[in-house]
Amino acid sequence: MDLYEYQAKDLFAAHGVPVLPGAVASTPEEAQAAAEKIGGQVVVKAQVKTGGRGKAGGVKLAKDPAEAKEKAEAILGLDIKGHITHRVLVTEASDIAEEYYFSFLLDRANRTFLAMASAEGGMEIEQLAVERPEALAKVPVDAIAGVDKAKALEILTQGNFPEAIRDQAADVVVKLWETFVAEDATLVEVNPLVRDPQDKIVALDGKVTLDENASFRQPKQEELVDKQTEDPLEAKAKAKDLNYVKLDGEVGIIGNGAGLVMSTLDVVAYAGEKHGGVKPANFLDIGGGASAEVMAAGLDVILNDPAVKSVFVNVFGGITACDAVATGIVEALKILGDEATKPLVVRLDGNNVEEGRRILNEANHPLVTQVDTMDNAADKAAELAAAGA
Ligand code: GDP
Ligand code: MN
Repeated sequence: MDLYEYQAKDLFAAHGVPVLPGAVASTPEEAQAAAEKIGGQVVVKAQVKTGGRGKAGGVKLAKDPAEAKEKAEAILGLDIKGHITHRVLVTEASDIAEEYYFSFLLDRANRTFLAMASAEGGMEIEQLAVERPEALAKVPVDAIAGVDKAKALEILTQGNFPEAIRDQAADVVVKLWETFVAEDATLVEVNPLVRDPQDKIVALDGKVTLDENASFRQPKQEELVDKQTEDPLEAKAKAKDLNYVKLDGEVGIIGNGAGLVMSTLDVVAYAGEKHGGVKPANFLDIGGGASAEVMAAGLDVILNDPAVKSVFVNVFGGITACDAVATGIVEALKILGDEATKPLVVRLDGNNVEEGRRILNEANHPLVTQVDTMDNAADKAAELAAAGA
């Protein structure tokens, strides 16, 4: 789960990372009131979960509360890379002497954590990484050893942080690591980390991604979920413990095993090209134990997506054999009753496939079509989606 800047900086503050005081506002009047409370110059910043807000006109300086109101008026409602701005952060303005870049992230490819640091922050880091890779230090961090002051200094030295503030910045880096670990984050990024004219180091921006697999031990993070912009189908799936991601196509997908579901998405997208360009509507992995309840829960989520015109159930029987899955589908359709209204294409293969197919044939449900191969089933599902669209 990605956090908003203000949420990231709240976490920073809780772990002792220096940030500037600020308040969130959802109307120009609230922004004005916040600016009055802070006093002096403020910065009004769009709260959207994407970068490059500055370039898009989503970060503006205001000299007084009246101007903060004006800037908030301009920023609220702004579309930044497809994200509509519903709230702004009004925060104390900082004089900037220098802008640096710093982040900790999970480096999946190398199976470790990584620190990235550069004395040339502020600009888009992807651009720096391409144009001047030598200016961006990448230092692996051992999960057990972690980051102490010495390690922080090593990282900042490689990132060419100026000597004069290196020690102070290292203290901040240790606290960022504490944030990263304590909050179960997979990303903690500060761009820019600034040096003000008094040589004080402050995190001016913050980007944090939390690891949802750790949410069971982070009950407080539940509050950070943004109910306003959360997709209602994704929320429903989450409540039912389903591994679901909404996509923008028309063919609903259910499969067992993440790898099988991913390849199903590819096969359906490919088949869809011949049928007016229909695409997969979602990712849904019902996992190994495809019980009737799980199948019903999955179908319930998918059938409630108005974009879905057909559903492709693609199951490879393993530990859970095909007959159990077939029974699950039949039972799920009974549970759903009249709510099941869209055609289902079912492809079963693997353990006990004959019995599974027999059960589905016997049930003879009017919405269900069985197809034996993945390619043909994808083609049939795409054809039905195109016909229903
Ligand atoms: P982003 O564009 O989404 O990454 O948003 P940032 O929070 O990083 O802001 C973009 C840029 O605006 C920063 O790199 C700064 O140059 C500038 N900026 C942000 N806050 C302040 C501030 O308090 N004072 C000044 N002078 N500039 C700021
Ligand atoms: Mn930034």
